[in-house]
Amino acid sequence: MSVEHHVGGDLLLAYGAGSLDEATSLLVATHLALCPASRQELGLVEEVFGVMLGSIPVDAELDESMLDAMISSPRLALAIPATSGSFVLPQPLRDRAGGDVGDLNWRALGGGIRQVPLRTNDTATRARLLSIPAGRSVPDHGHGGFEATLVLAGTFYDREKWYRRGDVAFADPNVVHQPVAGPEADCICLAVTDAPLRFRSLVPRLLQPLFGL
Ligand code: ZN
Repeated sequence: MSVEHHVGGDLLLAYGAGSLDEATSLLVATHLALCPASRQELGLVEEVFGVMLGSIPVDAELDESMLDAMISSPRLALAIPATSGSFVLPQPLRDRAGGDVGDLNWRALGGGIRQVPLRTNDTATRARLLSIPAGRSVPDHGHGGFEATLVLAGTFYDREKWYRRGDVAFADPNVVHQPVAGPEADCICLAVTDAPLRFRSLVPRLLQPLFGL
């Protein structure tokens, strides 16, 4: 897992401070369950910034070089248990979805792609599980806002990079893309968006309101 596939320090800080919306918080918690490096980073963020969190302005930027220096310090290695076990969906996500992937009520989205929308208390940010058949691409689309996609099974190819279990792909309004599931297995992922997607072709655009995409 390379650095850009992780949840960044600023998101971890917001998560630690409890200031994320519910859907994004679920994505960060799920990433943490699958990623020892990010668990360690969160431990550091909480340790170092814990006392200051209440006084940090909302738009403050975390100094990445400071964080990097702390992470590379061996004395700060924390013992945090892994939680994924033999389930496809790690604990926080399994609880929210109401079971593991085989227990859920998947709904067809077209093209073999299926989804399970996840209920959250806020209406602005949406979370859904997606299942994309092996080798199949998602219709190409742009974004009205922020999109984070966390891979849970299979692999996902997006903008010349591969993403594996635990990896997160981020997109924003500047990105138009057509992610593709890897050839070896169906790709199951958690997608969080804070604005509707902008599909470029007509059929997905027509279906969009039906599925709340
Ligand atoms: Zn996208």
